[in-house]
Amino acid sequence: MSSIVAIIGAGASGLVAAIVSAKNGSKVHVYEKNSKIGKKILITGNGRCNVTNKHMELSNYHGLNPSFVNSSLNFFNVSTCKAFFLELGVELVEGRRGRLYPRSLKSSSVVDLLVHECRRLHVEFFLKHEVKSVDKKDSSFVLHVNHKFLHVKKVLIATGGLSMLTLSSRDSGYELAKHFGHTIIPTHPSLVQLISQENLKAISGVKIKGSIEVFENSKSKIFAHGDILFTDYGISGSAVLDISRVVSYSLLYKKVLHVKIDLFFEYSKEQLKNLLKKRQLHANGKSVTLWLDGLIDPKLAYFIAKSLHVHVKKADDLNSKELTKLVYALKNLTLHVVDTKGFKTAEVTAGGVNTLEIDSQTMESKLQQGLFFSGEVVDIDANCGGYNLHWAWASGVCAGKSMSEMQV
Ligand SMILES: Cc1cc2nc3c(=O)[nH]c(=O)nc-3n(C[C@H](O)[C@H](O)[C@H](O)COP(=O)(O)OP(=O)(O)OC[C@H]3O[C@@H](n4cnc5c(N)ncnc54)[C@H](O)[C@@H]3O)c2cc1C
Repeated sequence: MSSIVAIIGAGASGLVAAIVSAKNGSKVHVYEKNSKIGKKILITGNGRCNVTNKHMELSNYHGLNPSFVNSSLNFFNVSTCKAFFLELGVELVEGRRGRLYPRSLKSSSVVDLLVHECRRLHVEFFLKHEVKSVDKKDSSFVLHVNHKFLHVKKVLIATGGLSMLTLSSRDSGYELAKHFGHTIIPTHPSLVQLISQENLKAISGVKIKGSIEVFENSKSKIFAHGDILFTDYGISGSAVLDISRVVSYSLLYKKVLHVKIDLFFEYSKEQLKNLLKKRQLHANGKSVTLWLDGLIDPKLAYFIAKSLHVHVKKADDLNSKELTKLVYALKNLTLHVVDTKGFKTAEVTAGGVNTLEIDSQTMESKLQQGLFFSGEVVDIDANCGGYNLHWAWASGVCAGKSMSEMQV
């Protein structure tokens, strides 16, 4: 019987699994359909690779059963992660909001050093090798790759998700899992830009710091605060990515959604009205648009004033009712969300292989002995900030370790 441990996918999760498994004495083969190793790692964190986050909390993780991550995250926590990368030669430094990056600020450093370690441990890579199917035959697994049938002892499905379809993501990992009876929690894009019904061309390119709240009918679903970027198609920016999972999930079930953006989150309604009243004393004949300029971006000032039909009116002439309406508009810029930008631009895939069917400590399938899962293919996704990569590393380490420990 073959003693080979096969890893499908040379991404974040597959690479660390390969290292751990090879270190524990396994003969490891990695099959990757791309011609390059770690292609997605290279584009993470705007090319800087946000490896992990100092503030590791369960609340950053999502899925049908988020606490599934506990075992992996306890075993491979932030300190272990730092030590792991330091041993490879990657020194991590802290950026904003606890995010940890390689000191080089280059994701290629992470890939280069992971690959070097794999090669040092004699891990064999098979690039441009897409695994089309996996079957169980007697005591081994049979992989159908590039018109060949390969017999291996254990298999790790580390095929990632559907995000960034341009990087040739396909749903193969889910299909491989289904073949062994696994169920797939419906997938939808997360950390993704949102498309609005309203035409926002007039304010395209305007970036603000604000808060954004999502409503399904009139029920508030989620709230975030941070950068919001208006674009031709809708909205982007960190606060938008933060709420996008909830929006994308609701859209999956055809729910009607709108968001309210507060351009003056630091002011209550009363405070904002007082501020505007004060400014009115020195309006000196300015149009409402010009009068708002200095408080908010001029394009946004015109957009909001025009929506209330007061853009050419003199600010001095606004009566109390009009001021109240203006305050409401500034604190409740309402957009109807009709779609997301989809998997093509999403950073991560929500949904995936049902965690109830996987052992959270070993990452082994509960339905098929010798079959393992790790990373984004599993029904776990996370917030922005290094949490998705941390899950990929942590689950990969656990899978790699148990693959080499278990005798099938
Ligand atoms: C633009 C962008 C920026 C991001 N930035 C960050 C960030 O800064 N921090 C963070 O934490 N997360 C970030 N992420 C998310 C992070 O990249 C993923 O969560 C992580 O890469 C998942 O690792 P993985 O190993 O599960 O999958 P991947 O890294 O996607 O690797 C899966 C690999 O499997 C291969 N494969 C798939 N099917 C087959 C098959 N049948 N046969 C052979 N090979 C196959 C794929 O080609 C791929 O190389 C970002 C994602 C994107 C798209």
